[in-house]
Amino acid sequence: MSEAEEQRWVGVMLDKLAAQESKRTFGDAELTERAAQLSEQYFDGRARPRTVRWVTNQNTRWGSCTPAEGSIRLSHRLQGMPEYVVDYVLLHELAHLLVPGHGPRFWELLEAYPRTERARGYLEGVVAAERLPKVPAAREE
Ligand SMILES: [Zn+2]
Repeated sequence: MSEAEEQRWVGVMLDKLAAQESKRTFGDAELTERAAQLSEQYFDGRARPRTVRWVTNQNTRWGSCTPAEGSIRLSHRLQGMPEYVVDYVLLHELAHLLVPGHGPRFWELLEAYPRTERARGYLEGVVAAERLPKVPAAREE
């Protein structure tokens, strides 16, 4: 292998490692950590989930929560969306540990998070975009 080839190969391997690294950085452990930070920041640490994890079997909901078990699940579809959107969904599920349902008390809790409206708009946009008819490919006349 020439020096130039070797350098190119090292570059390729480093890129691969970096790609793996960036995928790994937001796993269940980081999600759990993030939930604790958000609970601290917005709910005075009152929401204390026992488990927070990503799930791939949730395609119609962004997140879900089982208060009796203290478990929170986030759809893997959120991965790759802006951080403030993931934070909003996490906070939403954390809030359900304190208030079930979506009554005024629930939304009052979420008002503490300044990007609630923006995040909801983003998610509505994603759903709306998925429902749009596919643009037909241009036809060659
Ligand atoms: Zn909800």
